[in-house]
Amino acid sequence: MKPIYNFSAGPAVLPKPVLKRAQEELLSYQGSGMSVMEMSHRSALFQSIIEEAEALLRELMGIPSNYQVLFLQGGASLQFSMVPLNLGKHKAAYVDSGSWSKKAISEARKIKQLEVEVVASSEEQGFKQVPEVPFIAQDFDYLHITTNNTIEGTTFFTAPDTGKVPLIADMSSNILSSCYQVSDFGLIYAGAQKNIGPAGLTIVIIREDLIGLKEPISSMLDYKVQADHHSLYNTPPTFSIYIAKLVFEWLKNLGGVAEIEKINREKAALLYEAIDTSELYTSSVERKSRSLTNIPFTTNNTQLDKRFVQEAEAAGLVNLKGHRSVGGMRASLYNAFPLEGVKALISFMEQFEKNAKGAH
Ligand SMILES: *Cc1c(COP(=O)(O)O)cnc(C)c1O
Repeated sequence: MKPIYNFSAGPAVLPKPVLKRAQEELLSYQGSGMSVMEMSHRSALFQSIIEEAEALLRELMGIPSNYQVLFLQGGASLQFSMVPLNLGKHKAAYVDSGSWSKKAISEARKIKQLEVEVVASSEEQGFKQVPEVPFIAQDFDYLHITTNNTIEGTTFFTAPDTGKVPLIADMSSNILSSCYQVSDFGLIYAGAQKNIGPAGLTIVIIREDLIGLKEPISSMLDYKVQADHHSLYNTPPTFSIYIAKLVFEWLKNLGGVAEIEKINREKAALLYEAIDTSELYTSSVERKSRSLTNIPFTTNNTQLDKRFVQEAEAAGLVNLKGHRSVGGMRASLYNAFPLEGVKALISFMEQFEKNAKGAH
């Protein structure tokens, strides 16, 4: 089979060595004669998988000991509801930086008796940058941001100062791809399928004093129940957790988050440079907000964009079609996406630009 480069925004490319290892261990995990998929989630073998996964994530992100790590289901989208259900007592502040923020805001607004205030928005700028976040009143229950806007291609590289108000972050599309200080946040959540592993797993990192703040709610939705049971209240997504563990090992062997951030910066810089120096392609994202992981660009011509995506696909550069709400192209360059793939895309872009000029 011809190798391809997969630019999918999610579910996304996984490290080849991880897939190989999973393949080797698929039929008999550590001599058990069983696949991880077939094992009890209460078995000693699985217990060590989930414990190692947690230990590795703690090490990679430098998660302080007063934070719990939860392995949940329901995607980042369920966190849009769990966050306000568990932490929203009176009023919650949200930053609107794009489509995913809007969904988080809309779910929070469904919680009765919770006042939801949008304290900053970049909608008027067409979400071409992340908004300035003001220092908010200290009586908010929390402030919610989306650190990386997967669809618009913008990023908060540093956590805004919220004083004593817990900062909550949807980090679905840039967790582990650049360095953040976990202690700046009260809670971080991320669907695994962008930068960690297969779909079906959602990571929640929560400061202990934010657990059990309200009356008990439905058990599955309650951080306290999930934390008290160490993510084993019911059957967790065992295979996804196993793959996540392998990805964490892979990342650790590579040198950790600081090291992968360097590589990610190199990959992104190459692509932005190619876009900025070309006469055909443009990126509408403000420089200071430009994402390392999701890079939208366009030829400003719908027909040409369509041809680009088709011809790129034929050349083995797949899933470059932009999100339907933005159009154009989008290259997602998560941790597992190789530098050679970026170089291959740039060569293709140059050739396509030449051909497009020739056609005039
Ligand atoms: C993909 C994504 C989501 C949705 O994740 P699901 O796991 O599909 O619910 C939410 N927020 C951001 C920033 C995303 O990139």
